[in-house]
Amino acid sequence: MFGPKSHLTLRHNHLFIEDVDCVSLAEQHGTPLYVTSESRLRENIRAYHRAFPDAEKYFAVKANGSLSLLRIAAQEGMGADIFSPGELSLVRMAGIPRDKILYNGNSKSEMDHEMAILAGVRMSVDSREELEFLAGTAARLGREAEILFRVNPDVSAQTHPKIATGLRSSKFGIPAEQVADTYKRAMDLDGVRPVGLHCHIGSQILDTAPFAEGAAKMMDIAASVAGAGGSIERIDLGGGLGIQYHPDSPAPTPADLASAVLPIFESRCRDQGISPQLILEPGRSIVADSTIMLTKVNVVKKAHLNFAAVDAGFNVLARPMLYDSYHHVLAAGHAEEPEAETYTVVGPICETGDILAKERRLPLLQRGDILAFLDAGAYGFSMASQYNGQPRPAEVLVAGSSTDVIRSREDASSLLAGQRILPRLMF
Ligand SMILES: *Cc1c(COP(=O)(O)O)cnc(C)c1O
Repeated sequence: MFGPKSHLTLRHNHLFIEDVDCVSLAEQHGTPLYVTSESRLRENIRAYHRAFPDAEKYFAVKANGSLSLLRIAAQEGMGADIFSPGELSLVRMAGIPRDKILYNGNSKSEMDHEMAILAGVRMSVDSREELEFLAGTAARLGREAEILFRVNPDVSAQTHPKIATGLRSSKFGIPAEQVADTYKRAMDLDGVRPVGLHCHIGSQILDTAPFAEGAAKMMDIAASVAGAGGSIERIDLGGGLGIQYHPDSPAPTPADLASAVLPIFESRCRDQGISPQLILEPGRSIVADSTIMLTKVNVVKKAHLNFAAVDAGFNVLARPMLYDSYHHVLAAGHAEEPEAETYTVVGPICETGDILAKERRLPLLQRGDILAFLDAGAYGFSMASQYNGQPRPAEVLVAGSSTDVIRSREDASSLLAGQRILPRLMF
C-alpha cells in the first residue's frame, strides 16, 4: 500500500475499506464489485473547497455518473460538468442546481441544445458554427441561453495522447485567435448571451506547469475579448489534475494546483480590472481514489507467464486496455503476506488485449482469492460495457461499517433490455 489513503487499511491480513473487510464484501455482494468510501469522496471534495474557496467546482460527470455519488457531490456543494441529456437528467435528479451546471460538448444535436435551453443550464459552445445553430434554436424557443466559449489554448500537457485535449490539433474548442471575433458575433445574436470562457487541457496531468500556462493563455484571451467590447463574467479552467496511480508517480494536490494557478488568475484579473467567477471541473481527482474494484481469481495458470485470470476484464475496467493505465493491485485476503510470485492479471474477455495488470509482484494466489484494484472510481464503472455477454457489476457505498448497494448487479435479462426477436425470424 502507498500514499495517504486513510480509507484503506490492512487488518489481520485483509484489506479493509473504512471498517469493512473487502473479502466479506466480495462474499456478500459477489464480484466484480465496485466499492466506494463515502468519507474519502467527501474529503476529496473538501480539499478542493479549501484550496479554492472562491471557485465553483463542477464535478465532471463522465468520470462517474452513479446517482448516489452525484448526490454526495451535490450535498458537498459541487456543480456539474455534463456532456449529454442523460447526464443532465442524472445531475438534476441528484439535486445539483441548474445555475451550477455547464453543458459541454463538441458535437451537440438540435435536440441536445433544446434540452439544455429548456433546462436553463449554461452551455459551452465549441465552434462558431455551433454558435449560429444554437442562437437560432434559442430564438425559436423564445429563450436566451447563457454561453461560454470552449477555447483551444494550445497547451501541451504531458499525458497519454488520447486524453490530451488542449493541443492545437485536438478536436475541442475554438482556436485562440478566433475567440474575440466569435464572442463579438455572439453579442450581436438574439438567443444567446456570452458570459465567459472555458478550457480543459487534458486529464491525468501530473505537473502543475501546464495549468499555469493554460491560465495565463486564458487571461490573454480574456483581454482580447475585453478589447473587442465583450464582458467576461466566468472563466472555467476545466479539470485534469492527475492522481497517484503508481507508487513512483506522486500527483499534485488541489492545494498545489491552487498555488500554481491562483496567483496568475488573481493578478491578471486585477491588471485587467475584471472579477470573473472562477470555475474548475475536476473529475478524476475527486472520485478516483474513493473507489476500489474487487474481482475474484478463477484460474492461476503457469504458461510463458504466470497468469491470474479474474472475473473482471476490460468490460469492467477499461482503462488498462484503453490507455495502458496502471492500477495498483492488492490480494485482499493475503494483504500482509510476502510478494512471492509475479502475476499478469487477465480478464475473461475473448481478446488478447484483455490484460488488467502486467507482471505484478503479489502473494501466492489460488482460485477463489479476491484481488482489489485501487483507484478505480474515475472512468471505471462509467466506461463499463456488456461486451462478450457480461452483465455490468454492482456498486456498493461504504460509510464506516455500513454497506449499501447503490447500483444492483445486472443479470442476463439486462442483456436483453430493449431487444426483440422479429416474428418473421421465428420461423
Ligand atoms: C473530462 C473532462 C473533465 C474532467 O477531467 P478529469 O481529468 O477527470 O479531472 C473536465 N472538463 C471537461 C470539459 C472534460 O472533458
